[in-house]
Amino acid sequence: LPSRQTRPWVLICAICLDFFTDPVILGCGHNFCRSCITRSWEKQENRSCPECRQVTQRVMCDLKQREEEVLLRMETNLREIQCKLDSVEQELSELQTQMGKDALTFLQVKR
Ligand SMILES: [Zn+2]
Ligand SMILES: [Zn+2]
Repeated sequence: LPSRQTRPWVLICAICLDFFTDPVILGCGHNFCRSCITRSWEKQENRSCPECRQVTQRVMCDLKQREEEVLLRMETNLREIQCKLDSVEQELSELQTQMGKDALTFLQVKR
């Protein structure tokens, strides 16, 4: 068996010892190829992690789904920022209107 220390676990699947193809992440945080973990789970009753034997209660969290979640959150944040920008712009234009009025009053007083 290859040493745990030398195996670049981030990129290599612990089941096929090859680069991930369609990687999925388990509740414990370990990654495996979707096909590898599916095959491994077909043989066992409880869905435990082949790496640390921790039983995952959670359904596999798909990395692609995660990516979509992050993108969605980014989009929401962007929309919120846009909203804030709009309100600041609104405030600014109100302020400018107010300033215009003040300048007008000032001119009137001076005259
Ligand atoms: Zn694999
Ligand atoms: Zn694990």
